[in-house]
Amino acid sequence: MTIPKERHVLVVFPHPDDEAFGVSGTMSMHIEQGTPVTYACLTLGEMGRNLGNPPFATRESLPEIRRAELLASAEAIGVTDLRMMGLRDKTVEFEDDEKMTKMMEDLIAETNPSLVITFYPEYAVHPDHEATARAVVRAVGRMENRPKLHCVAFANNTLEMLGEPDIIHNIVTVRDKKIASMRAHISQTAWMLQEMEHKLEQGEPEAENWLTLERFYSYRWGNEFSS
Ligand SMILES: [Zn+2]
Repeated sequence: MTIPKERHVLVVFPHPDDEAFGVSGTMSMHIEQGTPVTYACLTLGEMGRNLGNPPFATRESLPEIRRAELLASAEAIGVTDLRMMGLRDKTVEFEDDEKMTKMMEDLIAETNPSLVITFYPEYAVHPDHEATARAVVRAVGRMENRPKLHCVAFANNTLEMLGEPDIIHNIVTVRDKKIASMRAHISQTAWMLQEMEHKLEQGEPEAENWLTLERFYSYRWGNEFSS
């Protein structure tokens, strides 16, 4: 199984573990095909809800734990160009729009991607996800020769509003790398992984599909950049 060959893939998400569930397989496949992949992670997820019970972390130690998890996930995926952009978790939505857009423009100028992957604005659920998606869309929207922009959407009304995703990658050949990426973020994903592994063991086709089919929407350009 292969996916279209790109010149360079730029992946932008706000939190460590945003890459794991929906995109890590696609990232691994690009890397196996010899395409350079840059993963820009805007925060260290230091406000992560899960400190464990009993706690495995404090507010102070969580960023270091999640930083190590992010590095482990990148290694599992095979990403060698990991950028930690140094913003603060839960504050991305309050960053200045232009500052955020400039950050994205700089990343794009440096990496010259033929494909950019982020969340789909208005279908990304979390305010940090939305702010990230908006900044990426704004930066790409200003370009004369735009790279492809593939977006992950998971709001409840996604299917109703956007229809079926136009891009579905079967990542079964890198399934183990994807599971390793999800496992790397164990402080946040333990519960979810347990449930998934249970379903996989029972041979539930839905769980297997959820794991091995990664879904993207090509961003639909409109007139959102009149300002
Ligand atoms: Zn997130």
